[in-house]
Amino acid sequence: MPQRMPAIFFGHGNPMNALQRNSYTEKWSAIGRRLPRPKAILCVSAHWFIQDAAVTVSTSPKTIHDFGGFPRELYEVQYPVPGDPDLAARVQSLLAPLPVRRDERWGLDHGAWSVLCHAYPDADIPVVELSIDETQPPSFHFEIGQRLSALREEGILIVGSGNLVHNLHAYAWGRHAQEPYDWAVAFENRVRELLQAEEYRPLIDYETKLGREAMLAAPTPDHYLPLLYVAGTRTAPDQVTFPVEGVDGGSISMLAVEVG
Ligand code: ZN
Repeated sequence: MPQRMPAIFFGHGNPMNALQRNSYTEKWSAIGRRLPRPKAILCVSAHWFIQDAAVTVSTSPKTIHDFGGFPRELYEVQYPVPGDPDLAARVQSLLAPLPVRRDERWGLDHGAWSVLCHAYPDADIPVVELSIDETQPPSFHFEIGQRLSALREEGILIVGSGNLVHNLHAYAWGRHAQEPYDWAVAFENRVRELLQAEEYRPLIDYETKLGREAMLAAPTPDHYLPLLYVAGTRTAPDQVTFPVEGVDGGSISMLAVEVG
């Protein structure tokens, strides 16, 4: 029997983290060294936010540079992991009768590779991405996490990649060091408390239950929803820990949430 794996939500932050070594990336590397070696990784990224549920089925998923205005060397990063069509089929069967489209064209977006290139720098663990269906309510994404939890018994590492607080309007791009905004800290603290108390209803209904801070922290759902997949995988003996902490540029939470 493979060792039971945790599930982890990563705050991926600025794509430049892929090239840098900083306190966040060093912790991502440490996580990769600490965990049992996964058979494969299933990644739900904020950057594959589309109109249906789909899984990548390519045996050699391409590295997608899905951003603009960054230095050329960032566009040259390759993360040449294999895919895992068997895992994609397993995801389809766990989620049935929900239709999950087999996608031949998508590969790995930077939500996946900018973190995984630090956690698993040898690029030798297969990765499959599952899209976030933007037409569905938050409860749908939590329930998908619940249904995917079985993969953790099969040696699969479930990764959500987003940012718990993600407000680019307020972000201090390359300017002075910006202290975290009060609303960013308040929202992050509230979510941490709810996760530890296993109070999922307010996390799912964050748009109405978590007030003004939620509107500022998650003005769009894409970077928040991957957390709900990871939270949904939690079962009775699991602990919740936060192996990476910090707020970048005042308004991007780099918090990682580990379940397991
Ligand atoms: Zn992002």
